[in-house]
Amino acid sequence: MYDDLTIENFMSGLVKRNPNEPEFHQAVKEVAESVIPFINANPKYKDAHILERMTEPDKVISFRVVWEDDEGNVRINRGYRVQFNNSIGPYKGGLRFSPTVNLSVLKFLGFEQTFKNSLTTLPIGAGKGGSDFNPKGKSDSEIMRFCQSFMTQLYQHIGANTDVPAGDIGVGAREISYMFGQYKRLTHQFESVLTGKALEFGGSLIRTEATGYGNAYFMEAMLKQHGGSISGKKCLVSGSGNVAIFCAEKIMRLGGTVLTLSDSGGGIYFENGLTQDLLEIIKDRKINKRQRLSEIAVELGAQFLEGQKPWGVAADLAFPCATQNELDEADAKSLAANNCIAVSEGANMPCTPEAVHLFAENNILYAPGKASNAGGVAVSALEMSQNSMRLAWSSEELENKLLGIMNDIHGQCVKHGERDGKVDYVQGANIAGFIKVADAMLAYGIA
Ligand code: GLU
Repeated sequence: MYDDLTIENFMSGLVKRNPNEPEFHQAVKEVAESVIPFINANPKYKDAHILERMTEPDKVISFRVVWEDDEGNVRINRGYRVQFNNSIGPYKGGLRFSPTVNLSVLKFLGFEQTFKNSLTTLPIGAGKGGSDFNPKGKSDSEIMRFCQSFMTQLYQHIGANTDVPAGDIGVGAREISYMFGQYKRLTHQFESVLTGKALEFGGSLIRTEATGYGNAYFMEAMLKQHGGSISGKKCLVSGSGNVAIFCAEKIMRLGGTVLTLSDSGGGIYFENGLTQDLLEIIKDRKINKRQRLSEIAVELGAQFLEGQKPWGVAADLAFPCATQNELDEADAKSLAANNCIAVSEGANMPCTPEAVHLFAENNILYAPGKASNAGGVAVSALEMSQNSMRLAWSSEELENKLLGIMNDIHGQCVKHGERDGKVDYVQGANIAGFIKVADAMLAYGIA
């Protein structure tokens, strides 16, 4: 037993044990600020050192991935799987293929996943993995060879009841298919070992749309709680992957106007708002043909904002759906100066701590990704349920379930985050996510 659990001493120990991992420190600090006062008020968590245990991954796996490129060169990448916490279900979380992947990034994502997956109300633990492999500019055969080699290392660590990876940045339907095929070849098992599969071999309807749709639903619930709605609002969306595209689609269906999207080359600005017809072109070009926004802006009749993020455009609502730390203090100042009223994160940790602080100072509603982007992993869990039952639900059923889950997550945030008539969504999401996992860990005893 000890008396001195403060944010400062907890964080200094964590930083010492995990040097050079700034993203992991950032993610843990945000949670520690919410849960340490709660833990101090609830000695059962403090005496069992639950937060110290929760911030130490169950297992970190790192492996060499060797593959051959189209020119016959031998290429070497590093693969990882961080199995963070399986207290409430098998490890569950995506695989990210990007040159920005390192252990710090995957530990931050795995840690966030612990809370996110707990909030979904479904029985899924938390993991994350991936590789520093850069899929950009690679041929289909190179992607296939990389994915097969990656799975040849990973397969022994995963399984339908052990660890169920999915996609994330750089890993979509194509990559999941190659990896699932290789798993099946190696194990002779047709099992629910990956989610985000194609419909022909066990995938779920609505999975592709789920993260983006869920984010729009969460924003709608947050605005409703405060007497408003998306209808009639001008909206900024960043990114142009699945999350951004389907977030934009649902915003439009809820009556909002989408003014922007973006990719690493810059933003794209639709002066009169995006339309469903234009979005269909973007889906085809970005998802199927892997083109850049700069190449299609003219055809879309939109302005390309070279090298710029969307946050300087005047709007009511912001949906960062690209990547971590994409919206910083200066961007938050622009949003505030333009009277933005709410931000809902589609990506994982896209707003820096300074930006989040600025939102609070300016009374801008803010939904952290672990709550607002949980729709993707929630429908992954529903894909696992359908696979277990060996049947498939309809789009309508799944969308209703998704809406119900997002409203439930919103309700948990309100329950644990409401203070003096205002909702602190960070506090609410962190406490609600923590309690379920912490209680399961306590039940297992010292382990
Ligand atoms: N990568 C997504 C996330 O950040 C989805 C994970 C999954 O479906 O397992 O939650």
